[in-house]
Amino acid sequence: MDRRAFLSTSAGVAAGMAAGAPQPREPEPERPLRALPPHHNPEGGFVNPWPTAETREPGGFLRWQRERLGQTLPPDPVPAQLPRAASEIAHPRAPFGEVRVTWVGHATFLIQAGGLNLLTDPVFGRRASPLRFLGPARFTPPGVSLAELPPLDAVLLSHDHYDHLDDGSVRRLQRAHGERLLWVTPLGYRRWFAARGARRVVELDWWQEATLGEPGAATRVVALPAQHWTSRTPWDRQQKLWASWALATPTGQRLYFGGDSGWFPEYPRLGRHAGPFDLALLPVGAYEPRWFMRPVHMNPEEAVQAYQELGGAGVFGAMHWGTFRLTDEDPLEPPGRVRAAWAAARLPEERLWIPRHGETRVLRRG
Ligand code: ZN
Ligand code: ZN
Repeated sequence: MDRRAFLSTSAGVAAGMAAGAPQPREPEPERPLRALPPHHNPEGGFVNPWPTAETREPGGFLRWQRERLGQTLPPDPVPAQLPRAASEIAHPRAPFGEVRVTWVGHATFLIQAGGLNLLTDPVFGRRASPLRFLGPARFTPPGVSLAELPPLDAVLLSHDHYDHLDDGSVRRLQRAHGERLLWVTPLGYRRWFAARGARRVVELDWWQEATLGEPGAATRVVALPAQHWTSRTPWDRQQKLWASWALATPTGQRLYFGGDSGWFPEYPRLGRHAGPFDLALLPVGAYEPRWFMRPVHMNPEEAVQAYQELGGAGVFGAMHWGTFRLTDEDPLEPPGRVRAAWAAARLPEERLWIPRHGETRVLRRG
């Protein structure tokens, strides 16, 4: 059986395409011009359309860097402080009806669901940086190496920051998994991936969806909002879109991958649209100093709140911590604060998953 991921996208017309279409000079009253969705900037690129994304103060990055000079940051953890687990990857695939999720590190997960093998935000390199010799280095090697991966069907990408999108990893994945591999991204990434040999790219706007897998037994992926931003160079700020993702398997399991996000008021709507989720993977690290990071990175308490607002069912998986130092908090602090927030909200302990690097969580129906 040919298990290549089949693909079809939702019928909605991407607003970015509509913007490029010829427009009548005087629109007829019965056919008004299509309004851009609020997260599309009429001048190009994208914006966060919520008051919680108040524009960061001009010069904020420089102020943060300047204030940092006068502080002693908590030390980087040594590998022994970050426990590892032997992964339980199903080779080549998990049985239909079973979901297996393995933490590679940071926002990278291998998701085995709906008979497919998917990867999120693939970063296997030593640094989350455009430079080989400078920038945040991994505290501990990936929990699963590139060579240990089963045959991949698709990769889901949340956005273009270096701790989520790694040039070397993309090239190696494309070489190893070849023509079959489908890259599922928010709007604006096709050219970037094509330059790295990836031809099968589907770009989705928020609320658009694609189906992967065999027709009749397909897994749905839905691009959903997140409150974040994009940039890889000084010249491309906000030009590509950022997103979170929902997955729905043909046997009815639902997963949420939060990508990178500050807390924003849409979580109840995301839950209603694509939940209830059997597993919600939410970012819990890179939150200090709050005056600068709050709009773009949740802290552990906000992540637990987001979980509850999504519907508060299923397992909470804590990600985006313990792998790279991006900000000022102790990199080992998030798990304790997640546990405390979880207990304060009186949520059941068995639903909290703070993974070790390499650890696999298996979800079965019922
Ligand atoms: Zn980011
Ligand atoms: Zn990030």
